[in-house]
Amino acid sequence: MILRTRWLGTVPYGEALAVQEALFEHGREQHLLLLEHPHVFTYGPRADLATNLRCDPAAVGADLVGVQRGGDITYHGPGQLVGYPIVDVPDRIGAAEHVRNVEQLVIDTLAELGISAGRLTEHPGVWVDAAGDNPRKICAIGVRLKHGRTMHGFALNVVTDMAYLREHIVACGIAGRPVTSMVEEGVDVPMRDVVDTLARLAGGRWGDGVADRQEVAWRHRPDDLSPFSRGAGPGEPVRLVSRLAAAGVTTGLGISARKPVWLRPKVHHGREVLALRRTVRQLGLVTVCEDAGCPNLSECWADGTATFMVLGERCTRACGFCLVDTSKPGPPAIDEPERVAAAIASMDVDHAVLTMVARDDLPDGGMAHVAACVEAIRRRRPGARVETLISDVRGSADALATLFAVRPDVLNHNVETVARLQRAVRPSAGYARSLAVLARAKAAGLTTKSGLIAGMGETDDEVEGCLADLAGIGVDIVTIGQYLRPTSHHLPVARWVEPEQFARWARRGEELGIGHVEASPLTRSSYHARAAADHVVAAVPVGVHR
Ligand code: SF4
Repeated sequence: MILRTRWLGTVPYGEALAVQEALFEHGREQHLLLLEHPHVFTYGPRADLATNLRCDPAAVGADLVGVQRGGDITYHGPGQLVGYPIVDVPDRIGAAEHVRNVEQLVIDTLAELGISAGRLTEHPGVWVDAAGDNPRKICAIGVRLKHGRTMHGFALNVVTDMAYLREHIVACGIAGRPVTSMVEEGVDVPMRDVVDTLARLAGGRWGDGVADRQEVAWRHRPDDLSPFSRGAGPGEPVRLVSRLAAAGVTTGLGISARKPVWLRPKVHHGREVLALRRTVRQLGLVTVCEDAGCPNLSECWADGTATFMVLGERCTRACGFCLVDTSKPGPPAIDEPERVAAAIASMDVDHAVLTMVARDDLPDGGMAHVAACVEAIRRRRPGARVETLISDVRGSADALATLFAVRPDVLNHNVETVARLQRAVRPSAGYARSLAVLARAKAAGLTTKSGLIAGMGETDDEVEGCLADLAGIGVDIVTIGQYLRPTSHHLPVARWVEPEQFARWARRGEELGIGHVEASPLTRSSYHARAAADHVVAAVPVGVHR
């Protein structure tokens, strides 16, 4: 059994919880999430907040979140390694023994790093000087075990700001017992070393030695999102290439590298496609199909599928692979939902895909506008399926709920690339954030879909690992296509992936539990969208009223 270990960097508590719950609910494999949280106090249903919470969380820059787990109030924040093993345990193992296993993993990790620690019989967790006169708690543990599967886990203080555990709360409700951290115990090692040691030991505990370890970039400061450009000057993009190099991708094909034959399809647009184009123009709409010069346009349109870009053509972000304009967007067009619906009705589109640029300038990231488009389409063409391909709306659960409420038939959000390349390829987004968007959509009962672009420096195994993560959170449909470099200002192509490799990924993805994987060099997010949905969307064929 393989253990899928992921270092996810800094992840807001709510987003990590959404990913955990999806892996707990839908996962069939062993997963270990390792991360840090921004400042947050969490408490179980039996916590005594009146006694144990000694501050106004907002006043100290922290969130306060109630969760379904054992234990009283605790704290998570920068410099604290949080680990969530979402694993199947044998029936004979109960919650108490699972807690002991998690404790032993932390005890062994600390021992390798030079700290002797142990247990106290009267309190869970890991304690320094456990058998001595002054036991100090260095790691809190809170787990949930249901139907032989676990979630939640441990919080190990590495270089934690201990004021949050000493002054602002009574940690874990245990009054009179000191808390400590590795650095306070004289062991000042980088977080990465702690993660390396723990991940290796965890592989032996929950993965019988077989580990698939993937991680996001380490040098990722959460505030490092200064406005981006794709390299203002002529020639090579500056920052993103250096990030790619920092992620280990130092070679790439030249801009004039000849594409292999499988990427040079003969494109012919028949009369009906040209007529449809005119319709789109007359309605003042933009299709990604045309904007991106997609080679699949004729096939998709003839199949009654078209992808409309809503919320304008200017994005508030600058992903390294994307041709979209990155300048200040204008306000959303009030009449756009009706115009899109009119186009879909006049084009007899049965499977409409709405895609969007990132609108971080809008409080809800544009979700109310996309929802209005879905409703307008449902009014004008009741039988049409609507797929929405959305940005991560900066992880806002409220904004997502606005769209989920109109129940798009397919909720699509692209993870785009593997964990290691996220910071270089989509600097304003994040791996855990995208998994959380998909996990929340699944929890809302929607059919979910995601997509990857291959050929930007990832390995075949990393793609399989990403498919395993998507399968683990219950994603129903995945698309994988070849990266094509739009301009010299964009990231270079690292390789042309062979068609056979796409076929292998498709098979592997479906073996891992994904309902349908559409993978080929020319695949794009909406390619064969209708057929892909037919595979998984709960028995509501196109054309039937909801
Ligand atoms: S957020 Fe989307 S539209 Fe914006 S640059 Fe990235 S991929 Fe392109």
